[in-house]
Amino acid sequence: MKQLLTGQQPQAVRPTQKPWSGLVEHYRPWLPVGERTPIVTLLEGNTPLLRAPALEKRIGRGVRVFLKVDGHNPTGSFKDRGMTMAISKAKEAGATAVICASTGNTSAAAAAYARRGGLRAFAVIPDGYVAKGKLAQALLYGAEVLAIRGNFDQALAITRTLAERYPVTLVNSINPYRLQGQKTAAFEVVDVLGDAPDWLCIPMGNAGNISAYWMGFQEYRKAGASRKLPVMHGFQASGSAPLVLGSRVANPTTVATAIRIGNPANWAKALAVRKESRGHFTSVSDGEILAAYRILASEEGVFCEPASAVSVAGMLQHASEIPSEAQVVCVLTGNGLKDPTTALENNQSNLYTNLAPEPDVIAQVMGL
Ligand SMILES: *Cc1c(COP(=O)(O)O)cnc(C)c1O
Repeated sequence: MKQLLTGQQPQAVRPTQKPWSGLVEHYRPWLPVGERTPIVTLLEGNTPLLRAPALEKRIGRGVRVFLKVDGHNPTGSFKDRGMTMAISKAKEAGATAVICASTGNTSAAAAAYARRGGLRAFAVIPDGYVAKGKLAQALLYGAEVLAIRGNFDQALAITRTLAERYPVTLVNSINPYRLQGQKTAAFEVVDVLGDAPDWLCIPMGNAGNISAYWMGFQEYRKAGASRKLPVMHGFQASGSAPLVLGSRVANPTTVATAIRIGNPANWAKALAVRKESRGHFTSVSDGEILAAYRILASEEGVFCEPASAVSVAGMLQHASEIPSEAQVVCVLTGNGLKDPTTALENNQSNLYTNLAPEPDVIAQVMGL
């Protein structure tokens, strides 16, 4: 900019790094793909690990907080990490159609990757409980969306049955390739920090992602790519907290629709993660979730969806337990634009409407 202002010609910058190739190519030796696997990619992964100074100031004691901003993925959520693997492997096996149950993001990711790979995509969703942006994505990507009068858990049960009976490949997180792709997020965190963090804070719905992160951290440590393992802190919304309560929730409720799940598909895996990492599962209220959601946007400039703010709400609830100088990574699973309704209904900003198009009128409203 300075050069431009002084009239000097800017020098072309020679690229020093290869352009990002998508997470399967980048982490190929760590993933179950072969020479002949057709890789279906939208160049997912390589998402920002962003320092969070406002949160650090709230916590103090030299604690360093990082946000893994996975809403930067191609369809706006971490689900893309698993879907590049699941769709590539489905295609390799000769599948022509995939099916998922979804609170929204899985359907958007499945649709995008399936259509790019030339497959049909079916999504079974709970009618009325999928955020607008997610439904819009799934439909525009070309998914065939089946909305049931029921919740996610019922949708998943139906989807499992259909995948057993008909030639459609299930791409929910019980598909093992999903977790393989998702574990790369842990690799990326270690690749940036140089080691695993002390704490990992993450929302849990079906608990596929917490299981995938743990797998990634463990594999890296076994290979000598990191020295330590994080303590895994999994958080659920208090109206949908089966893993915290230790029993199924028949009618889960929460503003965080992405994790409105009463019977997590990866229950046993999640309990193993908690045990092995000496971790903790706790719940946060919808009020705490929305408070964290507003702090992230208005103090850090990061617009995530309510389910993602759960990791920060949980961290803040447990702030006094974080060791001094520790490094904490909060996983922000999805983009805020997915759910404009919640943003419009839960901000504390002023929207002045119906103003006369006059500078004096505007200045007065501005308080000038
Ligand atoms: C899917 C999802 C989750 C929950 O992930 P699980 O693997 O089901 O625990 C959290 N946040 C967002 C935005 C999601 O889309």
